[in-house]
Amino acid sequence: MTPATTAPAAGSTGAAAPTATHCPYCALQCGMRLRPTAAAGPVPVEVLERPDFPVNRGALCGKGRSAPALLARGVRLTEPLVRERPGGPLRAAGWDEALDRVAAGLRTVRERYGADAVGVFGGGGLTNEKAYQLGKFARVVLGTANIDYNGRFCMSSAAAAHRRAFGLDRGLPFPLADVPHTGCLILVGANPADTMPPALRYFRELRENGGTLIVVDPRRTRTAEQADLHLRPRPGTDLALALGLLHLVIADGLVDEAFVAARTTGYERARAVAMAHWPDRVERITGVPVHQLRTAAQLFGRAATGMVLTARGPEQHSKGTDTVGAWIDLCLATGNAGRRYAGYGCLTGQGNGQGGREHGQKADQLPGYRSIEDPAARAHVAAVWGVDPDTLPRAGRSAYELLDGLGRPDGARALLVAGSNPVVSAPNASHVTARLRELDLLVVADLVLSETARLADVVLPVAQWAEEDGTTTNLEGRVILRRRALDPPEGVRGELWLLGELARRLGVERGFPADAEQVFDELRRASAGGDADYAGISYRRIAAEDGVFWPCPDPAHPGTPRLFLERFATPDGRARFAAATHRPAGEEPDREYPLHLTTGRVLAQYQSGAQTRRVAELNAAAPGPFVELHPRLAERLGVVDGEAVAVVSRRGRAVAPARVSAAIRPDTVFMPFHWPAPGRANSLTNPALDPVSRMPEFKTCAVRVERVRELGEDRVGGFGDEPARGPLDERTAG
Ligand code: SF4
Repeated sequence: MTPATTAPAAGSTGAAAPTATHCPYCALQCGMRLRPTAAAGPVPVEVLERPDFPVNRGALCGKGRSAPALLARGVRLTEPLVRERPGGPLRAAGWDEALDRVAAGLRTVRERYGADAVGVFGGGGLTNEKAYQLGKFARVVLGTANIDYNGRFCMSSAAAAHRRAFGLDRGLPFPLADVPHTGCLILVGANPADTMPPALRYFRELRENGGTLIVVDPRRTRTAEQADLHLRPRPGTDLALALGLLHLVIADGLVDEAFVAARTTGYERARAVAMAHWPDRVERITGVPVHQLRTAAQLFGRAATGMVLTARGPEQHSKGTDTVGAWIDLCLATGNAGRRYAGYGCLTGQGNGQGGREHGQKADQLPGYRSIEDPAARAHVAAVWGVDPDTLPRAGRSAYELLDGLGRPDGARALLVAGSNPVVSAPNASHVTARLRELDLLVVADLVLSETARLADVVLPVAQWAEEDGTTTNLEGRVILRRRALDPPEGVRGELWLLGELARRLGVERGFPADAEQVFDELRRASAGGDADYAGISYRRIAAEDGVFWPCPDPAHPGTPRLFLERFATPDGRARFAAATHRPAGEEPDREYPLHLTTGRVLAQYQSGAQTRRVAELNAAAPGPFVELHPRLAERLGVVDGEAVAVVSRRGRAVAPARVSAAIRPDTVFMPFHWPAPGRANSLTNPALDPVSRMPEFKTCAVRVERVRELGEDRVGGFGDEPARGPLDERTAG
């Protein structure tokens, strides 16, 4: 973590008033101020601290501090690109030509194959207004059921488990400021030291207050190094670990019987499942020694209050919903839910991971976190949109299923992608790339020429966070306001504007304004009465109050920083035990593929890297992929540190330098997923889906590691994209 530039002393030159806003990257949504740079240069604004914003109190990581680098002209798209003919190169075009081309293509596909043959793929980084408008555009203008987004890959298992247990999904049901006051915190599969460094102070303060930090992670991460106890389960066994801890809590008489009786249902079933997961059995499944299980159970069970926070580690599995459910069961059994300084929460990942899943870009949802299959919800939202409820499509395909179906007879033939780069970030990415090549029309709206944009027929250059107003909802459920600090360059437009232009070209003249606040005011009405009720939130209130926590049903309501203190959001007001049983991963190691692969992030890169790989200082810190493997495994394979190795799964092959480290288990290798092929981790990952959340199993699959001897394959450099390389001919590249 690096402090931001400090504001200059009064009287310094070039002191235009800074704009208070937020970082474009992760779900912490750190507050920052942007000030136009005094000297003429490629980067138009500089980042200043914003110490008054309570979540990060001025601290920023290198990603946030360097974010203005992408505002420079040389690294971003500044004009639409169109592909003249299939197989031809991309060339520059005007907006009218590009939008006419998109509208004509969408119309043709719809007429030829039906409305559901047009798909929309959104992103968890889009503002609430864009996510809302994208969902409305899909349902009202295109009439397609097939809209989903990359957030399905991030937090959907935690969301499903949250709803099942508590009747409502908000990442954290309490503010981060509560964390230092809990007695024992279990962080499961989360590495905030790399993913959101300013959040570390909450965990540090917890320990300073006498609390205990337990970290569950197969790797000894920089977060795990700060823990009082580090449990290192085999990938794919977090569910068994949670059951083992629940078993010990029950056996040691640490169940909060009064809480269980008064505020929960389903305990007896959960108890029966946990009692079948005795310590020796759990040690055999997870690899975590019994004495560590006992220590963890005692620390958590005896603490006056306890919290469990999960991230992608236990969630990105074909049993992710049940795994999170098992950790929630541990909280419920110990009375750690629905009261101050206690509970379960999910550390969301993307900048608007929370808001992005509330306002209608998910295949099964309408704004306000409403179900698209609920007749009352359909009637309410249709009335706001001025359409007949019967015209609204039903639930469509989830993200991977949508991508897997592209170009097939029953799948989408045209795809509009906004704020996502599935060529790098989707599981089984070589297959997904092949499906994208089968489309009749691929349209990508992005600020850079991402790997997915390079495949497109039309690329639409869009404005960035500092160039437009909009709200996001951070991991706490706090709705915050990003403010426009400067104009976008000539040739760049906002997504709201381009959706309005496309709607008009497709025959819908009204309902798609370009003004974000106008869209937000409609979103408030559409969300009113829903789970994620924003009706009482306004731009003015957000600015005055450092954000407002939903639900906030009317302007006089104070917002809801802490959920469930009186009752849970289930019909009977009680939290529900999941009582889930452990089962193997979708793919376990075997003779041919004897190792686990687990994937994740590094400090200096973000998600698919489309943005951060274009920032020189971040690239210098993290220039390319690597394969982390244990010294014993390296010795067995005859691999030395820095040598190129190939990781091979049933779906593909990735080549990257070996990084030999005792931080990883000997039976597991780790790869970060920020880079394209040849070092693309997602060439290997398994798209096995969770049956409830439809989330793919990114966190474990079976692989083998090979020394690379083939000619040329040991040249593993060149993973960062060169900035502004210009039109490319990717769809002819095979
Ligand atoms: S922690 Fe997240 S929100 Fe904060 S500066 Fe870093 S990337 Fe941005």
